[in-house]
Formats: sequence, C-alpha cells, structure tokens
Amino acid sequence: MTLLDGKKTSEAIQQEIAAEVAEIKASGGKVPHLAAILVGNDGGSVTYVNNKVLACERIGFGSTLIRYEDTISEEELLIKIKELNLNDEIDGFIVQLPLPKHIDTEKVLEAVDPQKDVDGFHPINVGRMVAGLPAYLPATPAGILQLLERYQIETRGKHCVVIGRSNIVGSPMSILMSKCAYPGDATVTLCHRNTVDLPHYTRQADIIIAAVGKPGLITADMVKEGAVVIDVGTTRVPDATKKSGYKLKGDVDFDAVAPKCSFITPVPGGVGPLTIAMLMKNTLRAAKSEVYA
Ligand code: NAP
Repeated sequence: MTLLDGKKTSEAIQQEIAAEVAEIKASGGKVPHLAAILVGNDGGSVTYVNNKVLACERIGFGSTLIRYEDTISEEELLIKIKELNLNDEIDGFIVQLPLPKHIDTEKVLEAVDPQKDVDGFHPINVGRMVAGLPAYLPATPAGILQLLERYQIETRGKHCVVIGRSNIVGSPMSILMSKCAYPGDATVTLCHRNTVDLPHYTRQADIIIAAVGKPGLITADMVKEGAVVIDVGTTRVPDATKKSGYKLKGDVDFDAVAPKCSFITPVPGGVGPLTIAMLMKNTLRAAKSEVYA
C-alpha cells in the first residue's frame, strides 16, 4: 500500500509556481494577484481564507483580503464583485462559501467574470469543463487529478466510483474522470444519498473517490483488494486531546481499509492540502491569460 502524500505533492506544486513567479518578477512581468472576499466570521471559512492569503505570500503572489460583516447586502457584495471584475491589478478572485442565507449564492457566483473565476464555479467555466474546452477547474477535483498523475496511477479503462454529487467536488470529479484524457478515461459511476446498495458499486471499483462528509461511511468490506481510495471527506469530530478540541475525519475507515488498497489518501494530509495549491495554479494561469487566451 502506498500513501498518497497530499502535503508533499502540494508543496512541490507550490514550489514550481514560486519558481515561475520568480522568473516573471525577474523579467519585469506582472506579479499574479489573488483577491478573496470573506463574508462573516465562520471559524472554518476564516481559517481557509487566511491559509489562501498565506500561500500567496509564500509563493510571491500579491493578495487582497476583503472582509464584510454577515449583514452585508447582496447588492453591496455584487457592486464589489463588479469592481474586482474591472480592476486590472487583480488577476483572479474568489468569494469564500458559504454565504449568509439572505444572499443568493448562484447570483454571486454568476457575477464573477469567468476570466477571473479561479475557483471554477461560474457556469461558463463549468460548461467549458464539460465540453472539454480550456477552463478553470474547481480546485479540489483538480488536486485529485494531480495526485493521480504525480503518482502515475493508471486510470484508463478503470471503473471509478465517485460518491457525492456536489457542484464543487463530486459532480465535476465524475465528469473529469470520464474525459478521454489522462488522468481520466475511466468508466464512472456517480453515487449519492439515494443510491440503492452503495457497497454493490464500491466493491466493483478500481478507484473510489469519496466526497460525502460522513466519517466511516466506507468500510473494509466495501473495498476490493488493490483498489485506489481517495478520501475527500473532512469532518470535524470532537477530540479532547487536541488543542483545537477537534480532529478531522475522512469518509473512509482508514485503519481497516488501507491494508486492502494499492494507494490511499490519509485525512488530514491527503486531498486537503492540494486544494490551495490548485487555487494558486489557477491564479497563475489567470495572470498568464492561459485559459481565455
Ligand atoms: P455536500 O455538498 O454536502 O455533498 C455531499 C454529497 O454526499 C451529496 O451529493 C450527498 O447526496 C452525498 N451523500 C450524503 N450522504 C450519503 C450517503 N449516505 N451515501 C452516499 N452519498 C451520500 O459536500 P461537499 O461540499 O461535496 O463535501 C464533501 C466532503 O468533502 C465534506 O466532508 C467536505 O468537508 C469535504 N471537502 C474537502 C475539501 C478539501 O479537502 N479540500 C474540499 C471540499 C470538500 P445528495 O446530493 O443526495 O444530498
């Protein structure tokens, strides 16, 4: 069994980006600049956004963090987005989700200029991804593709079972794995809450990608010998021994499942660290006008 080391892979990707930024700087080019809008004070969201800003600093990007109280109106937020769309200094920006209930998330995501949509959530980028056109890919599925590629895992003709159909992970993952490309070219089954007899599908899987958020959902009897298991799940469960008071658990019963696998991601340290690296990669692509040339 090989452990898929997301931390190491993420560091390698960020070093590659940092080297490219140093070259851009040396040749007098424009330094990539990422902006992030954070609404409210949700602990998880604050941590995620701060980590994104820190990553920018580490690799040499410019960054701007724009914070609002959760009482901000939808209109005010849309005005800020329009402003960022027109600001030539900003190459890409993200609106950290979730947004407060009084704000229409779809409307906000659609207001972002697709050319600056480095989260890859705008319907135009989603559509371009489905059509196989150059697009900003959502960071988590893109990170999983990087893991598969960098560990040279065979995907062609394999049966890939994706569990979860969210717009940010499961659904794009299933589409990307079905594309005639590497990594991809797999036969894909997409499972969800209403799938009847989930183990029936997972037992046939050469590659399982679990993106649910239910610790321990995937047990050893659901996995065939030699399978590749990618665990996207990150659920906070109380843990009095930790300073934070919680620990992160994946969807996979790691201790029981790992001995059966050819490759498996740990939680934490698997898929998680790649998400930021891929956001940085999208920002670099935006600065280089690579997607919308
Ligand atoms: P989500 O929007 O809540 O989607 C969860 C999906 O799981 C839904 O499609 C749901 O089905 C399905 N589901 C729920 N219970 C199920 C069951 N018993 N059997 C099969 N499918 C079931 O979550 P998400 O945003 O995709 O995130 C999923 C997990 O990944 C979470 O733990 C999240 O924290 C984690 N995550 C990690 C990263 C990272 O590491 N960087 C990034 C994003 C998300 P329905 O559609 O029928 O409701």
